[in-house]
Amino acid sequence: MSDQNPFHIAQQQFDTAADILGLHENIRAVLRVPQRELTVNFPVKLDNGSTRMFTGYRIQHNLGRGPVKGGIRYHPAVDIDEVRALAMWMTWKCALVNIPYGGAKGGVIVDPKQLSMGELERLTRRFATEISILLGPERDIPAPDVGTNAQVMAWIMDTISMHRGYTVPAVITGKPINVGGSLGRVEATGRGVSLVVREAVRRLGGDLEGLRVVVQGFGNVGSTAAYLLDQMGCKVVGVADATSAYCRPSGLDIGAMRTYTDRHSFRLLEGYHAPGVERISGAELLELDCDVLIPAALENQINERNAGRIKAKLIVEGANGPTTPDADNILAERGVTVVPDILANAGGVIVSYFEWVQGLQEFFWDEQDVNEKLERIIIGAFDHVWATAYARKLPLRTAAYLLSVQRVADANVTRGVYP
Ligand code: GLU
Repeated sequence: MSDQNPFHIAQQQFDTAADILGLHENIRAVLRVPQRELTVNFPVKLDNGSTRMFTGYRIQHNLGRGPVKGGIRYHPAVDIDEVRALAMWMTWKCALVNIPYGGAKGGVIVDPKQLSMGELERLTRRFATEISILLGPERDIPAPDVGTNAQVMAWIMDTISMHRGYTVPAVITGKPINVGGSLGRVEATGRGVSLVVREAVRRLGGDLEGLRVVVQGFGNVGSTAAYLLDQMGCKVVGVADATSAYCRPSGLDIGAMRTYTDRHSFRLLEGYHAPGVERISGAELLELDCDVLIPAALENQINERNAGRIKAKLIVEGANGPTTPDADNILAERGVTVVPDILANAGGVIVSYFEWVQGLQEFFWDEQDVNEKLERIIIGAFDHVWATAYARKLPLRTAAYLLSVQRVADANVTRGVYP
């Protein structure tokens, strides 16, 4: 099997764009690697009185366009190359939707489901302290990612604020509303995904009514996208999370599934039952007969082994890095349209930007205002990418990279090399 190291994949995607753009070797060398990398090893007191060591990272890929932005992931499979890739993808994502940030990402090697609330809070506060040398509203602004949520963001905001001696809401986004979060932020990534599906289907000459959708991942992104698409008239015929996968050709009751996960530990689908719903394997889910496939879980899910068997004609990447370059080639040959992660899931960071702006101004917007601005920005970027792909006869991912890499390169070149 070909190289599945996410950072090598991210570099390969960058190289493809850099070649087409004819990027000068000097700026190419700058953008190919992260600007700053911090590894932290730190102890956390467990409930049983013992102490355990954890390892985490905060990586800033490029600071050329402004403070850096990107989530913090808690997952047992986190490693430095994954965080490097995720940081690089954030740089392109922010540039593509033209918000004034560079890219960053953080991660801790931990399964948060194995920790008590107290342990999770102590781990979070200690990790925040370790990486606090990098953070600040004008420096580096984290947000939620896989395995973290609004409560974790609140602990990070509180930890940084305690160190400074005053409240610093704009040091992090994805906070709860009662401590300066933005209305619409929780749903923003899934909402963006649903808007992108709507737009892509329209461009491909289809109709949302009865459109068969499969969603891999039922966390914040997947469950919201599934719910909104269901509301828009689509039929969600398959969903899965890390524990289990389910399908029903006549359409799943997404509202009921969300109620189920809300009531069960760690919001998992395990044990869900309903008439006509069949339990299938995670591999089968991706190959279900459907019109649209939304990978909204982890990297490398669509790869050279299954790309040839995927039946969807449209893939919209809710996750970061779900499709390998080999799979991209196979899908392109088969005429499958892939809307890339840096466009499709940008709704989250767009509303994070709104949260940061609102926090700095101490002036808050209503939800309709947030949603309208989100739609304008993500659809504007979608139109730009679509037109570029069409004009240059390129896949959407390559078109998105051309626009974003050029923007980042221009900012860095205009600033020049210091000293
Ligand atoms: N973790 C999300 C992403 O991958 C959100 C990042 C943010 O809001 O800063 O885009």
